[in-house]
Amino acid sequence: MLDRRRTLRTPEELAAAGLIPPERVAPLVPVASRYSIAVTPAIADLIDAGDANDPIALQFVPSEAELDAGPHERADPIGDDRHSPVPGIVHRYCDRALLKLTHVCPVYCRFCFRREMVGPGEDQMLSPAALEAALSYIAAHDEIWEVILTGGDPFMLSPRRLAQVTSRLCAMAHVKILRWHTRMPIAEPERITDELVRAIRGAKTTYVSVHVNHPRELSPAARSAAARMADAGIPLLSQSVLLKGVNDDVETLEALMRALVEARIQPYYLHHMDLAPGTAHLRTTIAEGQALMRALRARASGLCQPHYVLDIPGGYAKALLAPCDAEREGHSWRVRDAEGTAHDYPIP
Ligand code: SF4
Repeated sequence: MLDRRRTLRTPEELAAAGLIPPERVAPLVPVASRYSIAVTPAIADLIDAGDANDPIALQFVPSEAELDAGPHERADPIGDDRHSPVPGIVHRYCDRALLKLTHVCPVYCRFCFRREMVGPGEDQMLSPAALEAALSYIAAHDEIWEVILTGGDPFMLSPRRLAQVTSRLCAMAHVKILRWHTRMPIAEPERITDELVRAIRGAKTTYVSVHVNHPRELSPAARSAAARMADAGIPLLSQSVLLKGVNDDVETLEALMRALVEARIQPYYLHHMDLAPGTAHLRTTIAEGQALMRALRARASGLCQPHYVLDIPGGYAKALLAPCDAEREGHSWRVRDAEGTAHDYPIP
C-alpha cells in the first residue's frame, strides 16, 4: 500500500492508498484528465475507506458523475470574468475586490465553483508583472475598502511572498480590511506556522475565512492551526457549502456549526452550490436548504447561524436564501418564531 505521507494526485495513487477499489481506476482516468485531483495526508487520514458514502471522500475523491455536465451548468458559474478588469482582480462589489494570487490549492474539492480555473499548470501563480498590475488597480480605486485574497488558495504562497503582498496592501490608505480565504487549516494544517501568521497579520484589520464542510474536518491539528491564528488576534470566519450526502441533514449541520464556534471560527456563509460543471450529484435544492436553515435555527444558538446564500449565476452578486420570518398582513406583521408558529406584531 502506498504511504499516505504525500499528496495523492492520480486514480492509481488513490487506489494504492486504499481510498478507491482498483476497478475504479480506469473509469476515473478521464475525470482526472479533466479536473485536478489532490488529497493531502491530513484529508486521507479523515476518510473512512470502508464507507462508500464517506462525507470526506465525497468532497475530495473524484466521481465518474463529474463528466456529466448539465445544460444549465457553466464554466464560470458566478461570472468572475465579466467583473475582472485586470488578471487576478474581480471587482464585483463597489467596496471590495478579490485578489486571486494563485490557481493552485492543497486539495481539489470536487464541487469547486472555480474548477475550470484551478489546478496545477504553467501559470500557477500570478506573474510578478500581473501582480503589480493588480496592486496598481487596487491602489487606483479609492472605493476598495476590503481586499479578499483568494485563488486557488493564497496560503500556497510562501510566508515571504505573503508578507510582501500584505505589506503592499497595508500601505494603501483606503484599504482597511484584508480577508484571506483558505482551505489550508483543514487540508494541510501544519502549513499554518507562526511565520505564516506573522506574514498575513499586517497593520490593517485582518480576517481569515476558513472553508469547512463537515465537523470531522475540524481535526485536532486543524483546531490547533485555527488557534494559532485566533491567538494572534486574527478573527476567523467560516465558509461552508451545502453538499448532498456531506452536510445536508440538520444533525451534521448543527455539529459543524457548533464545532466551528468551539474552534473560535464564526459561522459566516453557508453557500448554496453553484452551477459548476459536473457537480449535480452533490447539489441540494434551495427548498431543502431553507428547511435545513429553519431546523438549525430551532436547535442551535445564534452563534451557530450562518448566512445561507447563493451567488446568482452570471455574476449578479449574492442573494440571501434564508426564509424570511416576517410577512405583512393588513395592519400588522405576521412574524414566525423558530418553531414556525406565527405571531402578530402591530403596525402603529
Ligand atoms: S480549496 Fe477552494 S478554490 Fe481550491 S478546489 Fe477547493 S473550493 Fe476550489
